[in-house]
Order: sequence, then C-alpha cells, then structure tokens
Amino acid sequence: MIRAVKGTRDLLPPDTAVWNRVERIAREVFRAYNYHEIRTPILEETQLFARGVGAETDIVSKEMYTFDDHGTSLTLRPENTASVIRAYIEHRLDQRPGVQKLYYIGPMFRRERPQKGRYRQFFQIGAEAIGADSPFVDAEVIEMVTEMLTRAGLTGFTLLINSVGCPDCRPKFVAKLKEALLPVAPSLCTDCQRRAETNPLRVLDCKVPEDQPAIDQLPSILDSLCENCAPHFAAVKGYLNDRSIAFEVKPRLVRGLDYYMRTTFEVTHGNLGSQNSVLGGGRYDGLAESLGSNVHSPGIGFSIGEDRLVMTVDQTHDDALDVFLAPLGDAALRHAGELARELRRAGASVEVLAGGKLKRAMELANKLGARFVVILGDDEIAKGEYSLKDMKSGEQQSVTREQLLQRLQ
Ligand SMILES: [Zn+2]
Ligand SMILES: [Zn+2]
Repeated sequence: MIRAVKGTRDLLPPDTAVWNRVERIAREVFRAYNYHEIRTPILEETQLFARGVGAETDIVSKEMYTFDDHGTSLTLRPENTASVIRAYIEHRLDQRPGVQKLYYIGPMFRRERPQKGRYRQFFQIGAEAIGADSPFVDAEVIEMVTEMLTRAGLTGFTLLINSVGCPDCRPKFVAKLKEALLPVAPSLCTDCQRRAETNPLRVLDCKVPEDQPAIDQLPSILDSLCENCAPHFAAVKGYLNDRSIAFEVKPRLVRGLDYYMRTTFEVTHGNLGSQNSVLGGGRYDGLAESLGSNVHSPGIGFSIGEDRLVMTVDQTHDDALDVFLAPLGDAALRHAGELARELRRAGASVEVLAGGKLKRAMELANKLGARFVVILGDDEIAKGEYSLKDMKSGEQQSVTREQLLQRLQ
C-alpha cells in the first residue's frame, strides 16, 4: 500500500468542513478590513528565501524542500511573506493606490522533525499590509487577527506584543546582550551557547526550562529603543488600548526571521501545550529593498498556523445533508432525478438513492445525517404529493412540491 508522505496528511470529511468554516470566517474578516487575496506559486527560486528569510535561519539552512530543476534551484515555499513581496515588486503594486493589503490561504512546506500537531505540509492563513509605516496600521493588523480568532470561536488566547527595534537601535542592544551573556552563557544549553556567539537575540527565544531564570535577568530591548522606535511602540499600544484589545508586552518576544523590525506579535493558546503559538507576525520595513525593490515599501504581516487553529476550535460543522430522496422503482427514480435538480437549484443539498429497499434507505439516511427523507412511489407521483419525513422529530406528512420547497427554505 502506498501511504501519504511522512509528515504530510490527508484532510478528510467531515474535518474538511471545519477547515472550510475557518477559511470562510477568515475571508469575511479580510473583506471587512479591505484585504484582497493574492495567490503566489508554491514553487519559487531558492534564492528568494535565502535572501528574504535569511540564509542562517533554521528554515533556510535545514528545513527547505529544495531541488535542482535543469540548472535552476527551486524550493517549495516554507512561508509566504517573501513570495508576496516578490510579487509586489514584480508587478509594481507600489504604483496602485493606497496601502496594499493582501491575504493568502494555502500550504507551506518545511522538513521539520515530525511531532504532534506539526506537519511538513502545513497551512497558513496570512496577510501583508505593504506601503505604510504608521503604527496605526500595526494596530489595525493586530485588531484584525484578534477579530478573526474570536469569530473562529477561539477563546482564552493571549496576545503578546513587543518591539524589536530597527537597524539603528537593535545592533546596540545586541552588543549589550552579548556582553551580558558572556558570564552566563557557559551555564546555558548548547544551543544558547552557540547563539550567544552567532545570534544572541535567539537566546531570548530559548524554551529550555533550566535556562529561563538566567534569561529573565538579561537586558530588555525595550530599554534600548531609539527615538523613532520608542514612540512607534507607544502609539501601537495606545491604539490597542483605544479599542480595548487586551495584550501583554513581552520583551523577550523576538521572531526567528531576520527581517522583522519594530512591532512583533504572537498569539498563544493554553490548549496547545508547549507548541502553543497559534499565530505570529510583525513589521519588516527593509524586506522589499533587500529583495530588490528600489522603492521603500515598509510592511507588516502575520501568519496563522491553520492546522493548529482548526485543532483548537469547535469541531461541529454545518455540512449536513438537507434531503435524502428515496424513490421506489424505476419511474420514481426518473422523477427523483428531476425533483433533485429543482431542490438543488433552490439551494438544498440533496442525495438520491439510486436503488435499494425502503428500510435500507431509512438506515442510510439516518447515517448520513439527513434532515428530511422524501419517499417517492408511483402513487405519490400520480397524486403530485410526496411523503416527507422529518428525521429529527420522526413526524411524517404528505406535501406538494411547493410545500416541500417552502419547508427547505
Ligand atoms: Zn530604532
Ligand atoms: Zn537555551
């Protein structure tokens, strides 16, 4: 038997109904905030991610699906921000009026160590607002994600925010951090010992419990923000307060990707254990230039881990079957085909039993979760009335075609 590739999975009904509900809600919220969909290819040139995500990141150095395509190195996208910015530059979207607000829903690929709730093909719902550096936009993006999670039915989540500074103030903080790490690094985990040298910011990210007391003593980036970054962060917090959006400032919140600057944010949810981040995002004002844009195009975006979100929300769905037609005999089957067409055009979901006995038909209708069963025999058709059974109440009555259509409204 051939199975799905390790780390990938099939999404089957009825689970797919929950995925569709989450995506429908996401699209409604995107529309309310005037975001429009962008669909970029799943394949990109490898250099896009090397430049856009950062060659030293775990994603690019260890986790990408990269292959040679007749001399060109191609990669299955590990995330979508770099692709959206590439498309923005390629199609000169900076020439279009206003802030470009783009969203996407789709699969990403990373060769991660398989673990519960982590997949090598995983899905993200994300968005980018490109062309504005105002903290008002940051607050609006953050408001939008909390709205989306709330409407999807996620309760009890925590919004964490931080500022990671800019190319002016961050290097000074990193130097301070490096100095503070000198005496403590040898007692930290091996990853932190390495990061203390190569990328001290990443030490703040460490999840090893024994390291936490020492990490808590390290300097906070919020004390090093420059005269541009500090008021930007204060404004974001002010706009969130205006809208009564609860948040926690978490100075240790630094994101794994190199291009983030100023605002970063994350949403965590208790039900997900140690892998408890549902969503991450932040501002990336220099990314477009680093990908070759000659126009300054500051941006901010986020991506929701859809696999985790779907796992966390209510699993009920609304894909129930409205009508099950049970024709008795060949003439009734032909009649049922025509009736089904009319009901479907009126918006009902309809299943026709193409053969079998009445008793079996009722059993099957029950298993399929049908709301109504319509029994059609020669007598019923001759009279122009059908026998309609409400599967919830068990009540059975005779209805005309018009009455049937009304009942289904
Ligand atoms: Zn700064
Ligand atoms: Zn550590």
